[in-house]
Order: sequence, then C-alpha cells, then structure tokens
Amino acid sequence: MKGGCLCGQVRFEADAPLRAVFACHCTQCRKTSGHFWAATSVPLDRFRLTESAGLRWFQSSAEARRGFCGNCGASLFWEPQGEGRISIAAGALEGETGLHIAQHWHREDKGDYYDIPDT
Ligand SMILES: [Zn+2]
Ligand SMILES: [Zn+2]
Repeated sequence: MKGGCLCGQVRFEADAPLRAVFACHCTQCRKTSGHFWAATSVPLDRFRLTESAGLRWFQSSAEARRGFCGNCGASLFWEPQGEGRISIAAGALEGETGLHIAQHWHREDKGDYYDIPDT
C-alpha cells in the first residue's frame, strides 16, 4: 500500500497485512493531528520511505517520536522506540485500505465536541 503527505515530499510504501486502525484521543494525538490520531501499524521491515525530502521528526515523549512533513505539515508517523514498528496515519494512505477503526484509546482525554462510537 502506498501513501504520502499532501505535497508529496514524503512518500512511503507499507506491505500488507496492515494492523487495524487504532484511534487515540490523548492530548498529544489531538494536538498533533488537529482532531484525533487514527493509525495503522506495520513492522519496520515491511515499511519503506520512497521520498523523504520533507520528513521531519519531533520527539514527542521519551518513548516515541512523530514524523511529519516539514513542507506541508501533514502528520504521518508515530514511532515508538525499540518496538521495531511504525504507526502510519490512516489518512495518509491512498486508495482502498480495507481497514477499520478497531480500538479507541484514551477516551477520557477526547474533545467535548465529538462522540466516540461504541466498538
Ligand atoms: Zn508534504
Ligand atoms: Zn495518543
């Protein structure tokens, strides 16, 4: 599966199977995404950057860093240290994904302007 940011300065490929999408409603994810963070995940050996000119990393906590495009600002990746995997924003994927949101994390931190459906 292919994906990328809005401007094209970050492009990537991820080989199936991709994990179901998890939504995270924590404060960090809400701030970085502008709403809530919804991401799939793959082991690093099934992930390739095909264009990384715009890729920037932000160390968002001691355990993880977030990848985004420094040109267009797209939130793209969340990479937990030492787990050998990368989370990929579901919105950055192109075409039919066949994926669904399977879990919601940190419901207690969600914004008051939306509801989380029961899953
Ligand atoms: Zn971009
Ligand atoms: Zn989060």
